[in-house]
Amino acid sequence: MARRRKLYEGKAKVLYEGPEPGTLIQYFKDDATAFNNAKKGVITGKGVLNNRISEYLMTRLAEVGIPTHFVRRLNMREQLIREVEIIPIEVVVRNIAAGSICKRLDLEEGKMLPRSIVEYYYKSDRLNDPLVAEEHITAFGWASAQDIDDMMSMSLRINDFLSGLLIGVGLRLVDFKLEFGRYYTEESVIVVLADEISPDNCRLWDSGTNEKLDKDRFRRDLGGEREAYQEVARRLGVLPEAGPMDLKGPKAIQ
Ligand code: UDP
Repeated sequence: MARRRKLYEGKAKVLYEGPEPGTLIQYFKDDATAFNNAKKGVITGKGVLNNRISEYLMTRLAEVGIPTHFVRRLNMREQLIREVEIIPIEVVVRNIAAGSICKRLDLEEGKMLPRSIVEYYYKSDRLNDPLVAEEHITAFGWASAQDIDDMMSMSLRINDFLSGLLIGVGLRLVDFKLEFGRYYTEESVIVVLADEISPDNCRLWDSGTNEKLDKDRFRRDLGGEREAYQEVARRLGVLPEAGPMDLKGPKAIQ
């Protein structure tokens, strides 16, 4: 394979130049980080599993009319995506109290929220992704009122659709984080779902036992991270056939 240009390396993914203009290749790493990079580790096979899980969920979402950056999976660790201009806002949707909202508002973990709550965080490692209001987003020009409207309505639809899909395989969608980007075509610009949807950025609890099947296993040193991600992939019917044997996948070409 030809050498290709690395455009960006994040905590869990690498972006390479794509085969044609307007496309990128998204490579999923096994690296895991938490608490704004203070905790680092590797979950062997995570990249392979997240590639499949995100492919599956983005494909299902596209089928119900949510525009996404996903084009197709290329191999075990890579997918072809459309190049978008990432909006520097993380949209978090919460159904059940967990994580930072419990501390901030003194809520008991596991408490059903009175309704789904959408929060915005400004993407900034330096500032530790602070919680912000719409006022900050529009005043500082991070996104327009129309962008916020689009992100909010898509996030709620995604929440409804994914909550249903996941409960069908015995998983409670506790909360999750989304990122969006502006996709420029010749005639227009639309806001599309970007990044990934996987147990790295969703809290998923077994609906029978409330067992955590997501990155909280890593954050809280619970062990069994890989098994948890595999279980999510298995329930969604996307566990690679060769199972753990397949998990190493090809090495990234730099
Ligand atoms: N999340 C994420 N990236 C972040 C912060 C949060 O993917 O930088 C996800 C996290 O996995 C959870 C949801 O967003 O599903 C809500 O996270 P929370 O605000 O509770 O923060 P945390 O407890 O993870 O610090």
